[in-house]
Amino acid sequence: MHVVVIGGGWSGVAAAMYAAERGACVTVLESRSYLGGRARSFVDRHTGTEIDNGQHVLIGAYTSMLDMISALGTEHVLQPQPALKVPFVDVSGRRTVLNAGRLPGTLGMAWGIATLGGLSWSSKRGILRWALQLQLGRLQAGEETCLQHLQRMGQTPQAIERFWEPIILATLNAPLHLADAQLLLAVMRLGFLGGTDAARILLPTTGLSWLLEPFPAWLEQRNGTVRLSTMVERLEADDHIVQAVWCSNGERIEADAVVIATPAASVQRILPEAKVPSFVNSPIISVYLWYNQSWLADDMVATLGTTIQWVFRKPSPGVVSLTISAASALASRSSEEIITQCDAELRQLFGLATDVYLHHGQVIKEKQATPLFLPTERAARCHQVPGVPRNVAVAGDWTDTGLPATLEGAVRSGRRAAAAVIAAE
Ligand SMILES: Cc1cc2nc3c(=O)[nH]c(=O)nc-3n(C[C@H](O)[C@H](O)[C@H](O)COP(=O)(O)OP(=O)(O)OC[C@H]3O[C@@H](n4cnc5c(N)ncnc54)[C@H](O)[C@@H]3O)c2cc1C
Repeated sequence: MHVVVIGGGWSGVAAAMYAAERGACVTVLESRSYLGGRARSFVDRHTGTEIDNGQHVLIGAYTSMLDMISALGTEHVLQPQPALKVPFVDVSGRRTVLNAGRLPGTLGMAWGIATLGGLSWSSKRGILRWALQLQLGRLQAGEETCLQHLQRMGQTPQAIERFWEPIILATLNAPLHLADAQLLLAVMRLGFLGGTDAARILLPTTGLSWLLEPFPAWLEQRNGTVRLSTMVERLEADDHIVQAVWCSNGERIEADAVVIATPAASVQRILPEAKVPSFVNSPIISVYLWYNQSWLADDMVATLGTTIQWVFRKPSPGVVSLTISAASALASRSSEEIITQCDAELRQLFGLATDVYLHHGQVIKEKQATPLFLPTERAARCHQVPGVPRNVAVAGDWTDTGLPATLEGAVRSGRRAAAAVIAAE
């Protein structure tokens, strides 16, 4: 069985691995000159440092994704925390730590919240009560946004600002007044309240592209192949069964089954007759800053009350990366302005000494970082797109994975799509 996978992002690679592991001969066609899609690394020309298109944070609950990289032998690239530990710093320089590692399982998380600084006891009690309701399966989000849900659940403005907002921005890449509360419930159930291993953070210690680096050789050993810089334009179908894919270079590639693992807009271009949902995208801005010396003590810090939301210490001395999610307001600003503002904010947050100076900055604006999933458009996410030929399945972080647009969602969708086309054969 020849399975053609269109798209070499994480959903496409997951689909290809799933199909190849079950004996299919797989061809992956990727329009760009690299694999990884929206999760990749490249070399910064000015410094020669390998940087990501944006810092990715993984959690232990990403079991499908972790299985996949373990099959590729690259799990050593990830550095797992023993248990969830997140420092928060605010504009007054006050540092407090959410440490879930003092007790096992969800008790550890509860203790971490109970002892978190910067929150009144009524804020903490509200968060703990919410978590208990979720654990007991008593929480429903209806069509609420996160803000509506948190207010209805009696969360204090302080808890919303200092606890919920950093979590929602990081995991849902959407402002609170738009973000879908049901996805917040899913993330909290899966990660935060999923036990010590599920909640802990894993940070890549190298460029993201290294995680998938062995994949082309892995696939070749199983009679498959990866073709980069190969853009698929359309499918050739007869009686609602696809026979071949056509590439923009005029090449025709025969297929017994096809997985389209691209963003929804590309699926629509490849299959104009199908009814593919369309999403507004939410940007993420990542800023890499090269200082003359190392100054950040923690691997990662959530920042409160600033444009910057998260700061990560990178392996090269003096290099930090910053993340600004749901960054529509900032996307039109120049890179110079963004760098100047971020440097000023870091100086205020961390009280940097005058002999710490910045010698280079790089801003990466991913304007189409992730789809913005609104609670009112929940039904639009699907994996069986009306009008798609019988031997074709779609995959991608935008499909109905039950998760926000994440690597784990992309991997799960890729596996599901590959299973569907194999079963249909
Ligand atoms: C800056 C940033 C930070 C993020 N942070 C996190 C994080 O911390 N944790 C997390 O879990 N997730 C994070 N994400 C989200 C995560 O990266 C995505 O959800 C995931 O990579 C999506 O994978 P995908 O395979 O669905 O899509 P994509 O990665 O978009 O892959 C689709 C591929 O299809 C190719 N393609 C499109 N059209 C065609 C065509 N016609 N022919 C051939 N190829 C085609 C594209 O070139 C692309 O390579 C982040 C994303 C960004 C941008």
